[in-house]
Amino acid sequence: MDYAGQRERLGKAVRERGLEAFVVVNVERSDRPNLRYLTGFTGSFGILLVGERTVFATDSRYTEQAGKETGLPVEEVKGRWLPWLGERLKSLGLRRVGIGAHRTSLFVYQELSRLAAGVELVPERGLVEDLRRVKGEDEIGRISAAAELTDAGLRWAIEHLQPGRTEREVALDLEVWYRKNGAEGVAFELIVASGPGSAMPHYRPGNRRITRGDVVLFDVGVQLDGYCSDLTRVVAVGDPGPTVREVYELVLAANRAGLAAVRAGAAGKDVDAAAREVIAKAGYGDRFGHGLGHGVGLEVHEAPAVGPASEDTLAPGNVVTIEPGVYLPGKFGVRIEDLVVVTEGGNRVLSRFPKDELLIR
Ligand code: ZN
Ligand code: ZN
Repeated sequence: MDYAGQRERLGKAVRERGLEAFVVVNVERSDRPNLRYLTGFTGSFGILLVGERTVFATDSRYTEQAGKETGLPVEEVKGRWLPWLGERLKSLGLRRVGIGAHRTSLFVYQELSRLAAGVELVPERGLVEDLRRVKGEDEIGRISAAAELTDAGLRWAIEHLQPGRTEREVALDLEVWYRKNGAEGVAFELIVASGPGSAMPHYRPGNRRITRGDVVLFDVGVQLDGYCSDLTRVVAVGDPGPTVREVYELVLAANRAGLAAVRAGAAGKDVDAAAREVIAKAGYGDRFGHGLGHGVGLEVHEAPAVGPASEDTLAPGNVVTIEPGVYLPGKFGVRIEDLVVVTEGGNRVLSRFPKDELLIR
């Protein structure tokens, strides 16, 4: 991973905004993704200052680990970190320092402004997050590996899917499988939604038992070497009947239309529209309430957005999901989600899990 290069790009963005430095504060994991992106550090507490000088600090729990992970000189914070940081900023003679607006609590912002009197702290929206949109080859490699593991786990879960088991049991078994097979963890709470639960896009697995005739929706992803994946497939347990088949075909057509629109230079809202139009034309427009997709990287939801309100334009190296769905409340829902890398002329789909036909168990 090119952490030094990533810090260099941040340094350039910082200078372009008329700032002398940018400070990333990760306290109790408040900004682990940005700190990891810039240094490789995985601990729960760390501070990074990027400017003319690079300063990295953590406390005694992490000094050894931080040295190994970051390759940077590590300063050790003793005592309370806020006064330490205030003094450190002053000692560097800085006047204007950017700080992440999304990731810094109001408390930290106010305290640090008070403690670092004379240093103006400028809240910046998405400075690091914007850099993170464009993935390097090694980042894409990690996301591909996460996608591959996700596919393999879902294959295992569907092979072992039995009527009578609860959604929670199925979700938990799959999570254990992922961890046993190398995942650091799941990228989000795995969704296993059966029957009417599948009609709720962000359903939480409950004690409902999977029953013959159900549609079971799996929305699953892992974190591997820091990077996330995200995959949704549905499987029918026994004969699902004609409506489910019809909706499945429709959502698959929308998924394909969305994927076909993914290329560098395409507006996120146009990619969304390409898929949404397919669903609207079939009369299910009001049954697809969420955006078509989102960026995936160190976080499972990050920029760029692929939705009706998106102001983003896709660029080579973006990794996004394409996940149209149709939800019929009280009955069932179908969503088909793939992970895709934006390339100059089009895209490369990372999710290999079959989707051409509705899976029946
Ligand atoms: Zn998902
Ligand atoms: Zn998703």
